[in-house]
Amino acid sequence: MFAPWTLWHNAITDIALHVVAPALSWLHLTGMTDSPREIATALMISAMEVLIIALLFRPLESLIPAEQWTHRRYARIDRFYTLLKYFGVLPIFTYLMLQPFTYEVGQWFGSTGSSSGDSQDSLITLQQLIPWLHGHSVIQFLIYFALFDLVYYLIHRLQHAVPWWWALHSLHHSQRQLNCWSNDRDHYLDDLFEVLIISLVSLLIGVQPVDYALLILTGDLVQIFSHANVRIRFGKVLDKVLVDPRYHRLHHMRVDPERPHLHDCNFALVFPIWDILFRTALYNEPLHPCGVDAAEIDADNDKGFLGQQGAGLARFWRALPRMRPRQGGAQVVADNQAGDRA
Ligand SMILES: [Zn+2]
Ligand SMILES: [Zn+2]
Repeated sequence: MFAPWTLWHNAITDIALHVVAPALSWLHLTGMTDSPREIATALMISAMEVLIIALLFRPLESLIPAEQWTHRRYARIDRFYTLLKYFGVLPIFTYLMLQPFTYEVGQWFGSTGSSSGDSQDSLITLQQLIPWLHGHSVIQFLIYFALFDLVYYLIHRLQHAVPWWWALHSLHHSQRQLNCWSNDRDHYLDDLFEVLIISLVSLLIGVQPVDYALLILTGDLVQIFSHANVRIRFGKVLDKVLVDPRYHRLHHMRVDPERPHLHDCNFALVFPIWDILFRTALYNEPLHPCGVDAAEIDADNDKGFLGQQGAGLARFWRALPRMRPRQGGAQVVADNQAGDRA
């Protein structure tokens, strides 16, 4: 067997046996999950992602920064968000809460699928709709990837348009020093809504667990890189195919008082095609400073992790009675027709 693969395999076995299983037993959670090996695999994948950020994206930020900073005071907290998510929240949430929850939902729908769905048991499968996909697993994977990205795009539009959702998502946007660790700077309630929708979709359309893991991993890598403070553009053709750092940086721009709806752009997370189709893509625009203009949200920058989560929750609570769309959200299409968007 190929040596690196053997190493990877052995490391997962060791972590499952010597770290995950004892930790579950110590926490009296052994009965809640039968997947210490899956948890160990998730931890190893997380470790690889963190290594890619630390050893590749972070040095690139020093070599070719999009914005020059004299310090990284505001950026530092985002690294904490990433490490906490990958090595704490994600494994605990996915395997101890989400998996039992989606199993119950699957039972309710009359299926016995796993957390990520099972093609045999879900309501509709892509292969049932398009039998030709049998034996064309790469194409099937790409279709799933595009479908997931479309759902993420629609969720992202709602995160900006619905007041109570923006109250949570604004924590992600309050970062002035957008950087390679910023992808996971989110309010946890925001993440919860997002993950419940995505899990439900994957359960309904029957994504195999292995495909689901690969989808999330690949999507995460593109999104992490798109937040990096690097002067990189994929080029006039490729930047219409894949989101690059310049494209997503424009999504994080502060409001331009001269063009107050310009920042309602570039919502796509992996494939810009959704922005192009829905007329929310913005190219050919110089970079603007990142962050938000509302002083109350900008104050997140001076808070720690708990302060930010608490402030987001307070904003969410205050925004709850206002269920109408935010001004600007519905304006995007009209603006795009007038502006210099793709
Ligand atoms: Zn956003
Ligand atoms: Zn972002």
